[in-house]
Amino acid sequence: MTAHPPSARRLLLVHAHPDDESINNGVTMAKYAAEGALVTLVTCTRGEEGEVIPPELAHLAPDRDDTLGPHRDGELAAAMAELGVTDHRFLGAPGRYRDSGMMGAPQNDRPDSFWQAPLDAAAADLVAVIREVRPQVLVTYDPNGGYGHPDHIKAHRVAMRGAELAAQADFRPELGGAYAIGKIYWNCNPRSVVEEGFARLRAAGHSFPGVATVDDVPGVVPDSEVTASISGGPEHAAAKAAAMRAHYTQIAVDGPFFALSNDLGQPLFGTEHYRLVHGVPGAVAGDREDDLFAGIGEMVGMEESARIEEAAE
Ligand SMILES: [Zn+2]
Repeated sequence: MTAHPPSARRLLLVHAHPDDESINNGVTMAKYAAEGALVTLVTCTRGEEGEVIPPELAHLAPDRDDTLGPHRDGELAAAMAELGVTDHRFLGAPGRYRDSGMMGAPQNDRPDSFWQAPLDAAAADLVAVIREVRPQVLVTYDPNGGYGHPDHIKAHRVAMRGAELAAQADFRPELGGAYAIGKIYWNCNPRSVVEEGFARLRAAGHSFPGVATVDDVPGVVPDSEVTASISGGPEHAAAKAAAMRAHYTQIAVDGPFFALSNDLGQPLFGTEHYRLVHGVPGAVAGDREDDLFAGIGEMVGMEESARIEEAAE
């Protein structure tokens, strides 16, 4: 039987590139880490094909030194230190799956790209983590990966397939005992919050050459589809901003706003939103959860009895 980590609450996040975790879930990760939960981040690629913002680091780019991957590994480590997250892994191993570039780019076809990886092989790398960590909660993207980037779409597929396979006792038993994740969430952004954020950005003034639009924000959904909202204290919002700053080849932060390499300003959200797509909601119907582990107490009980049955077999 797999040894259990000491933390009672265990949260697993699956992301495509270094920086996605801080942009999407920085507050959530900082808050749960501070509360003593085990927060495990699995990043699927090192983001080798990202565009580099600082001109003095342009040599890292894939058409020059092609050293952006290891550089971003360092940025990610610094971001995790800001969030207080100590358990970070790359899917399989650092560099096992290469950034596939934007949809339609020739890099999509590289045999070492994440996009080309056989789904069940990549999912098996995640099964090993799921069975070791035994998280009650998994967070990943929606089926479009939030905005259609091939690595984000593939990260979604690997996360969902990995969760499915981890629960099947006859799948790769050498990777650990079967384990079923209690709750699965997809990242999202409620439309009203995004629209309000852009109104705030235009009113406040900023240093960016342009402003993004609602359509540039990943995972925008009607407010009614949001099932959980996680707000931390000001210290968690500050940790998120600091973590985003640590990804300085990819993100420029200006107060409560930021820009990616397209130089278009967008709001930096201090509350993060989710859709529960698997598991039992911990809030009464119609209410949003304010804790991703809501209702987990009962499920921990179920997990215990399942383990007892497993041991009896
Ligand atoms: Zn990404």
